[in-house]
Amino acid sequence: MKNISILGVTGSIGTQALDVIRDAENEVRLVGVTAHRNFEKLVDIIEEFKPKYIGVTDSDCFGKVKEYCEKANMNCELYSGEEALEKIATLEEVDTVLTSVVGIAGLKPTIKAIRAKKNIALANKETLVVAGDIVMSEAKENGVEILPVDSEHGAIFQCLQGNESKDVNKIILTASGGPFRGRKRDELKTITPSQALKHPKWNMGRKISIDSSTLVNKGLEVIEAHFLFGVDYENIEVIVHPQSIVHSMVEYVDNSIIAQLGSTDMRLPIQYALCYPERNRAVAHSLSFKEASTLTFEEPDMDTFRCLKLAYEAGKMGGNMPAIYNGANEIAVELFLDEKISYLQIEEIIESSMKEFEFVEKPTLDQVLDIDRRVREYVLKKYVK
Ligand code: NDP
Ligand code: MG
Repeated sequence: MKNISILGVTGSIGTQALDVIRDAENEVRLVGVTAHRNFEKLVDIIEEFKPKYIGVTDSDCFGKVKEYCEKANMNCELYSGEEALEKIATLEEVDTVLTSVVGIAGLKPTIKAIRAKKNIALANKETLVVAGDIVMSEAKENGVEILPVDSEHGAIFQCLQGNESKDVNKIILTASGGPFRGRKRDELKTITPSQALKHPKWNMGRKISIDSSTLVNKGLEVIEAHFLFGVDYENIEVIVHPQSIVHSMVEYVDNSIIAQLGSTDMRLPIQYALCYPERNRAVAHSLSFKEASTLTFEEPDMDTFRCLKLAYEAGKMGGNMPAIYNGANEIAVELFLDEKISYLQIEEIIESSMKEFEFVEKPTLDQVLDIDRRVREYVLKKYVK
């Protein structure tokens, strides 16, 4: 039996992880959860799973949850604010922490969890992007595993099993291409939030849906793959595969390619990460090659979707540049969703932030958090009148 806690239990990944836990009740027990603002969903989860520890980061939502738990005579411990994430990430009885909060909010609790020697089922890719060197070296020092939840990285992780990393030629990351695949720049000028939120293949949280449409998500995943698997950027290739059936591939020195395929269902990589090294019975549907008989592949259009090119640039520069890229994107996506900037300004904001700030080769954790804050201030001042 594995005890787990979920940071961001009310989100898209969090709730799909609950499906996995429902199905694996003899293998996985939910001990701690955190939520931010979604009171209704959190109450449903508390009633069904009765977690012993509950963290709520938003203060209004915390007040409501406290009142609810007192009235319902729930036998649980409650934590509020930023401390809530760190507390739930470091609970003594927990073995694995699923990090499924969105954005850089996941960084500090992930580091705390690693220092408390918890294995990490990592959905929160922003954490690795902004501080990949720090996170991976802390993981090594503390002897903990970082198990990828992102479908592409989960796929690569599976393709690497039983092989030597020295024999890897390259990683081939697949991308669906997002809702605007095939469009040209002129056609992107007037994109609205509701158009960008409609992903053709995956049903995800709002931020990652926008990131998928701009190909920022693929850019973040290139950087995530670099840190997770220790592969140079020259050897990480992105290929657009609109059917999202091949979740990624690894080419070895003999030019043999191993791919992982499966239905388009995040519960599969979540389950693999939570139950690793065991394989549990299926939560996802079996993939029928009669239905999915056509698999196509094409080059990404990096001249139209320039955020992917910028991510390669940020990754190759290293240091604090991925944190600048990420911070600029996080605030730009918020502004776009609030209809304060246009769609193409997301890319403009990332590019101008990468030019604005001084390069730091080996940023500390505090420097990463500081640059993130300064990038957001800069963007708000420059782009919001
Ligand atoms: P959602 O927006 O659906 O969920 C985010 C979760 O984080 C919610 O539980 C939310 O709480 C909580 N949260 C939001 N803001 C804060 C904050 N400031 N502090 C603490 N908690 C907060 O996101 P997703 O589930 O889509 O994505 C989560 C992570 O997983 C992201 O990093 C994403 O890139 C990654 N990922 C997601 C995939 C997907 O299919 N969705 C696929 C691969 C990776 P509440 O709802 O209560 O407000
Ligand atoms: Mg992914």
